Amino acid sequence: RRRRFSLSIRHQSSSAAADPTDAGERFEYQAEVSRLMDLIVHSLYSNKEVFLRELISNASDALDKLRFLSVTEPELLKEAVDLDIRIQTDKDNGIITITDTGIGMTRQELIDCLGTIAQSGTAKFLKAVKVVLRVDSTLPAQDSKEAGSDNNLMGQFGVGFYSAFLVSDRVVVSTKSPKSDKQYVWEGEADAGSYMIREETDPSKLIPRGTQIALHLKHDDKGFAHPERIQNLVKNYSQFVSFPIYTWQEKG
Ligand code: ADP
Ligand code: MG
Repeated sequence: RRRRFSLSIRHQSSSAAADPTDAGERFEYQAEVSRLMDLIVHSLYSNKEVFLRELISNASDALDKLRFLSVTEPELLKEAVDLDIRIQTDKDNGIITITDTGIGMTRQELIDCLGTIAQSGTAKFLKAVKVVLRVDSTLPAQDSKEAGSDNNLMGQFGVGFYSAFLVSDRVVVSTKSPKSDKQYVWEGEADAGSYMIREETDPSKLIPRGTQIALHLKHDDKGFAHPERIQNLVKNYSQFVSFPIYTWQEKG
């Protein structure tokens, strides 16, 4: 039974407000995330390349989580795929795809993790920015942007997943948790106050387990979609990751 044929049934029985056309559902970001995205997208931050370190670190965390949980829940490993990280570059289309075979995210986890700020690094960053702005509602928006772009804060605290928007116009996350029989897609754009979540229905895009993040690079950042560039960044920033990291290139 292929899941794509059971959509209408699922939607009838689902308590969430689902869209029966399978176009997905749109969500507003939590206010702090909107603010963070605004800072990231409009910052003059020069060290954009940290996006790769952040995404590899998330992939590594997801693999660690899977390995840890599988000690007590061995069925989480029922898909026999290696624990690794793969980075594909497509320089013609300016796309980098980072794939891990880690714990993945359920639909609810996507909403909780990639629409709100739960984690410490990013929260600290926002706090630091606020201090710089001296809690700021009196400042015109322009000033807050300048202060936010005041470099080192972003590098110092890290902005996690959202650093993908340092280099991307559009980010597409496709993820399959071993706790769910469905794969979900999160799609966000720089300069949008909302994101979309839908079920993956294209059989050619199904993954056994884990998370695949496609970065559609901004025009000026397409140079990152070169294997040598990626390999250098991995060497410089991610050398202590304890899972294999493979890089490969779309054949031109
Ligand atoms: P942090 O890593 O500090 O928690 P991030 O912004 O980098 O913050 O990531 C937010 C959350 O999104 C993570 O805590 C995790 O729950 C989820 N997440 C991000 N990337 C992945 C991934 N590749 N696999 C599984 N979950 C992920
Ligand atoms: Mg992280």
